Amino acid sequence: MADFDYDLIVIGSGPGGYVAAIRAAQLGLKTACAEGRATLGGTCLNVGCIPSKAMLHASELYHEAKSGALAKFGIDLQGTSLNLDQMHAEKSKAVTELTGGIEFLFKKNKVDWLKGYATFESANSVSVAGKTVSAKNILIATGSSVTPLAGVEVDNDAGVIVDSTGALALPKVPEHMVVIGGGVIGLELGSVWLRLGAKVTVVEYLDQILPGMDEEIRKESAKIFKKQGFDIKTGTKVTGATVKDGKATLTVEPAKPVPSGAEGGGDASTIEADVVLVSIGRRPNTDGLGLDKVGLALNAKGQLETDHDFRTKVPSIWAIGDVIPGPMLAHKAEDEGIAAAENIAGQTGIVNHDIIPSVVYTYPEIAGVGLSEEQAKAAGHDIKVGKFPFMANSRAKTNRDTDGFVKVIADAKSDRVLGVWIISSLAGTLIAEAALAMEFGATSEDIAYTSHAHPTHAEALKEAAMAVQGKPIHI
Ligand SMILES: Cc1cc2nc3c(=O)[nH]c(=O)nc-3n(C[C@H](O)[C@H](O)[C@H](O)COP(=O)(O)OP(=O)(O)OC[C@H]3O[C@@H](n4cnc5c(N)ncnc54)[C@H](O)[C@@H]3O)c2cc1C
Repeated sequence: MADFDYDLIVIGSGPGGYVAAIRAAQLGLKTACAEGRATLGGTCLNVGCIPSKAMLHASELYHEAKSGALAKFGIDLQGTSLNLDQMHAEKSKAVTELTGGIEFLFKKNKVDWLKGYATFESANSVSVAGKTVSAKNILIATGSSVTPLAGVEVDNDAGVIVDSTGALALPKVPEHMVVIGGGVIGLELGSVWLRLGAKVTVVEYLDQILPGMDEEIRKESAKIFKKQGFDIKTGTKVTGATVKDGKATLTVEPAKPVPSGAEGGGDASTIEADVVLVSIGRRPNTDGLGLDKVGLALNAKGQLETDHDFRTKVPSIWAIGDVIPGPMLAHKAEDEGIAAAENIAGQTGIVNHDIIPSVVYTYPEIAGVGLSEEQAKAAGHDIKVGKFPFMANSRAKTNRDTDGFVKVIADAKSDRVLGVWIISSLAGTLIAEAALAMEFGATSEDIAYTSHAHPTHAEALKEAAMAVQGKPIHI
């Protein structure tokens, strides 16, 4: 492209942006990626998926060793102690390895890293670190950041009221941590500190945790979390917070006022905590992009709207990932990154947004793909549901790992699978089979008659599929 410096400039190097840049380069486009952070990989690699999974894994190992849970397998681990600095160091090492890996992949694929934050100058140019760079196409992949909560001011340096980034790096185990928001991030990070010895209270505005998931899964998850020691206060609103002498005092009140004396009602009260994690959601990053220069407006949720090909209403500008509508998930951003790059290169890139799995990496893990039972009914489907508990799965029983179940929701007439929900230590891995089956339009019978290796947790998915027709073997 003689007239432009690049065929494509990607703004942001998160899982959406870096994957799009690599795919575009693979397809022969001269590509650059602007990133203002000191390392590549975006939220996911630096302060999201990767460090949280590192802390979840390490804290799970610690908890298993410390709690005496291994004694029944003949493993006595007396005197287990926590070296939190080392745990953080190992997490940081994983982050450094993985962010460095993206830098390596950029070099390998000849993607130029433009170091700095990009601001639009025109529909075909941006300014990065004071330099104007032009491209035939520009892809916005600027991701998201933590949604603030009015009256509860985050200060990660002070370490009392923190967001997810602060909660991933606490220098000591809090005595009492209050998590505001019973969604994925709050429950994952709450699990980390609960396992390391904190008392953890989750305050959720809605009447159940894990919004958006299947109702039965939400209820069962809450039961399991409570058994683990989480104090879960649903239907509760945080109205403010004060910090004094390194402690926070939160004011809370019932989310829905009820007549005095009625069950579940009550006046405002306070909760003391030494750490408060604000995890009520994330909002798209668009500040400083200079969207007004190119005539792009945001929707009511602050997101950029695109068409099916991920093109905005300005033909040379595209957008993907957390900055556009849809679930804020790394693999959704990656899939969109590949599709957008293919479309920009003149190929046909498509993402099936109906089949994007979501996983909560707690213990056990909680995963789902497709419709919940409530969504399937609301969409007018006549449904059949098959369920199978891990209590009846031989491998789970042998491993003493029997929490949870698989739920398969199929259309009653066509038998086509509409949704699969799993609570299991391996749910995040098992859900991939369900997603693949659904991508191919599988019926529950297709899954039921597919051979599954024995003994594996995956057999529970097969049996839940058999249960759709009412014929599981092991229950
Ligand atoms: C604690 C936590 C745990 C999570 N765990 C998971 C998980 O297990 N699985 C999962 O699927 N998702 C998880 N997520 C969500 C996941 O991180 C996001 O969905 C994903 O990172 C979105 O990717 P993205 O490419 O859209 O944007 P991001 O990853 O947010 O990356 C955007 C990048 O753009 C850069 N940027 C912004 N503006 C500019 C600009 N003007 N110029 C240059 N650069 C700019 C930012 O610095 C950032 O690096 C988690 C999130 C958090 C916070």
